[in-house]
Amino acid sequence: MASRSSKWTSADDDQESAAALAQRKKQKEERRRLKEERARNATKQLAPSADAAGSDGRPSKRQRTSPEQGETLPANDQSSVEEGANILQFPHRQFGPCAHVDQFELLNNIEEGSYGVVSRARRKTTGTLVALKKLKMEHTSDGFPVTGLREIQTLRACRHANIVELQEVVMGDGDGSLKDVNVYLVMEFLEHDLATLLGDMAEPFLPSEIKTLTLQIVAGVEYLHRNWILHRDLKTSNLLLNNRGEVKLADFGMARYTSRPPPPKLTQLVVTLWYRAPELLLGAEDYHFEIDIWSVGCIFAELVTKEPLFRGNNEVGQLSSIFGMLGPPTKHTWPGYQSLPNAKALHPLLSNANAKANATTTTLTASKFPYLSTSGLRLLSAMLSLSPTSRPSAAEVLNHAYFKEDPRPKAKEMFPTFPSTANQEKRRRRETPQAPIRGDAPKLDEQDLKGLFVGQAEEEQGAGFALRLG
Ligand code: ADP
Repeated sequence: MASRSSKWTSADDDQESAAALAQRKKQKEERRRLKEERARNATKQLAPSADAAGSDGRPSKRQRTSPEQGETLPANDQSSVEEGANILQFPHRQFGPCAHVDQFELLNNIEEGSYGVVSRARRKTTGTLVALKKLKMEHTSDGFPVTGLREIQTLRACRHANIVELQEVVMGDGDGSLKDVNVYLVMEFLEHDLATLLGDMAEPFLPSEIKTLTLQIVAGVEYLHRNWILHRDLKTSNLLLNNRGEVKLADFGMARYTSRPPPPKLTQLVVTLWYRAPELLLGAEDYHFEIDIWSVGCIFAELVTKEPLFRGNNEVGQLSSIFGMLGPPTKHTWPGYQSLPNAKALHPLLSNANAKANATTTTLTASKFPYLSTSGLRLLSAMLSLSPTSRPSAAEVLNHAYFKEDPRPKAKEMFPTFPSTANQEKRRRRETPQAPIRGDAPKLDEQDLKGLFVGQAEEEQGAGFALRLG
């Protein structure tokens, strides 16, 4: 019985377990269905747009890299959205080969300066005239000349109506060595430089023309100073004039960036002698924008008289010429000049001088500049102050009353044109000293300076100079 019963029991049990199995299977299927449904819902939340899903409707497995709502990417950045958009990206450096000088037809040489040979040339593709300045490599013992580097660096940074435009830098053929490489600056061409023009003119410029020229020169200088650039070689041969009455500053071989306070130990041997400020002649190393203003003062005077203002043969002669016209420095006209390096040698001589001891400013005499109005003379005297701190800034010069009084500056369009000498084989120009060659720093000694005052005392008798030696 037990076995039968057991058998019957067993049959019941079998039925029971089959039902339980079916139930479990059903529950399992239900769980799977629910799970799938949850998964589908989750997918819908992750993939708000059909674009984000794959073609089979499944969400893309890629990490979300598209911008948040409201964010935009630059059009040309869309590619980076796909791959690695969250990685910092830096623009590639573009290195292009320099163009070759043979795209220019050489017409004639204009001038050989201290640091380059300038020629007139024509761009073959457009027919436009350009000036080609071939850099001289001979002033450098190692590598590229620093004057060339400075000229390229500063001119490339400048965009101003009164600064010559550097269009590009091109290469010529060489033997491959750095010493032999030929580098040319391609610049806009201007028909004249003011030194050659003044030398050729029978009469000086009219007062209204002097104002137009001076205003443009000072506007170029103001732009440089506003951008922390010192030109350091302003002179009439570095000022170019075209036949539309526009003046432009050129020759940036001495230019450099500066700061306030100025960088330590600047070279003193800058600026062509005749246009060099007295603080440079006395050995100042921490000079500033005022040295350019002194040069502009010399240029202004030269435009008025047609002749360079101070024409020393050497540093001592130059100081002699300056002090002869303006009087020697005193503690009133130039406080602190005694601390300049070369003033030590000068001091014993000056302490004997019985000159304008109480004057606080230096003044120019009207007799030397008969064509200049009182206000013009005042402006010139200010620019030629012995003390650098007494000189006006370029911005102040631009606002000076001299430019507002009659006669008003002549409109550029009305400016006279002059026959250009730039198509002659070499410009004829009166002799002027060259820009200083780097590495030739002058040191004045007491002997030189004695010479200065003896020479001056002799000159004084005839010319009525202000300096009196005890
Ligand atoms: P360097 O640095 O060797 O002294 P510059 O740049 O001063 O050379 O140029 C020497 C001369 O060449 C200038 O005085 C001027 O007569 C002429 N010159 C320079 N640049 C130009 C130009 N862009 N257009 C016409 N003549 C120019």
